[in-house]
Amino acid sequence: MGSECCHALHIFFFPFPAPGHIIPTVDMAKLFASKGVKATIITTPLNAILISKAIEKSKTSSNLIHIQTIGFPCEDAGLPKGCENIDSLPSPEFFPTFFIATKMLQDPLETLLLQQHPDCVIADMFFPWATDSAAKFGIPRLVFHGTSFISLCATECMRLYKPWKNVSSDTETFVIPELPGEIKLTRLQLPPFPINDEKPSEFASLLEEAKESELRSFGVVVNSFHELEEVYADHYRKVLGRKAWHIGPLSLICNRDMEEKANRGKEVTIDEHECLKWLDTKKPNSVVYICFGSMLSFSSSQLREIAVGLDASGKQFLWVVRKSKSEQKVGEEWLPEDFEKRLEGKGLIIRGWAPQVLILEHEAIGAFVTHCGWNSTLEGVAAGVPMVTWPIAAEQFYNEKLVTEVLKIGVPVGAKKWGRMVLEGDGVKSDAVEKGVKRIMEGEEAEEMRNRVKVLSQQAQWAVEEGGSSYSDLNALIEELGMLRQ
Ligand code: UDP
Repeated sequence: MGSECCHALHIFFFPFPAPGHIIPTVDMAKLFASKGVKATIITTPLNAILISKAIEKSKTSSNLIHIQTIGFPCEDAGLPKGCENIDSLPSPEFFPTFFIATKMLQDPLETLLLQQHPDCVIADMFFPWATDSAAKFGIPRLVFHGTSFISLCATECMRLYKPWKNVSSDTETFVIPELPGEIKLTRLQLPPFPINDEKPSEFASLLEEAKESELRSFGVVVNSFHELEEVYADHYRKVLGRKAWHIGPLSLICNRDMEEKANRGKEVTIDEHECLKWLDTKKPNSVVYICFGSMLSFSSSQLREIAVGLDASGKQFLWVVRKSKSEQKVGEEWLPEDFEKRLEGKGLIIRGWAPQVLILEHEAIGAFVTHCGWNSTLEGVAAGVPMVTWPIAAEQFYNEKLVTEVLKIGVPVGAKKWGRMVLEGDGVKSDAVEKGVKRIMEGEEAEEMRNRVKVLSQQAQWAVEEGGSSYSDLNALIEELGMLRQ
């Protein structure tokens, strides 16, 4: 579709203030702007600072992308000053308060809807009230979950059939009913909120509201591509009856050069040129990249298990480390003695934020140890990198199943328990890390997985090119919104 027929469309993009939600939403806004749509990103002042870096290039090329800030009521809601993003909270205890605070964004959003009257609002799933806000002004609302089709389907099947009620222990496996692929889980791998349905927590109620508001919305936009999870994309639409458009992988479409790739999310804590120069010295497929997304952090004991496991694997590695906030003041004793000195040249530790997409795309990267956050999983697929899966929270256990059992492009590290944002105790031991890393890097099975993910990477590229499945779905969506407007 040419830009000339849709230049008049104006869309609000309203991400939940967490890196894993902001990053793909900003990519999405850039994508729509590249199609001639006026894209306004609604966010709070501190988040706007990071977003403005990410959109700098798109702004100069089209001037169709803008940020509109609204105040965030930290103090009114009982949050420490400046906590405008969930990753800046001092501890997970503040999560419920943070979610309550985001509800206070409804009034400012409605003021903007009244003033600017966009043609559509694409709002995060954690803002269920946005459907009603948009409806007040006769504006269609689209939902963005930021996750995979498999997890959208699995979550719904779990909600409908509650299979965990049919097992007698937390470790007995059950099959997710009506979900293609015989996907098995245990109760331990589920978050506590769907299980405790007699006394739903505030978060469980929010998820319920999200589900209801999704059903009343105009539809769902998904950061995925059809070839990756065809069965689940079809199931979501045809069996569960949802109206959905897949338009990804977003990271692939909107970040064409090094600067754009490095400026996604937060400020990188290592010079990206240094990091790439280090990788340049390595042979193709010889380095393991380890990163657990934007939110998770680890206790010292868990970090030590990873360090020992990596060392024992004998592989070269690039490891992004984030310690739990309570342990940040503690020194570096989680590292085995002389670890960095002894492994100099063989292993590189990034403390903080890494330019992940740039790293994954480097030919030296041979595997990705990931928590299966959907952005990371999709970025791994797009870069053609096989994975060691280590799901921890949110919907990550479903994404693991897609990687290891459906697509067969990864091996599980053996995570058995759904956790919180800080991984302590009950974690994964060093020998499991060693085994997982060796299995993904050596031998015939590893080669087969690498070949399969390379094919998917090529398909991802085709999906976003002219005539590809995501390209076509995006055009269909823009066309439909254009018609609706008329
Ligand atoms: N990310 C990054 N550098 C880091 C950590 C994360 O660029 O050091 C990016 C990563 O590329 C992805 C996002 O942050 O786009 C994390 O999203 P994901 O869904 O994987 O996990 P979450 O952080 O939401 O758990």
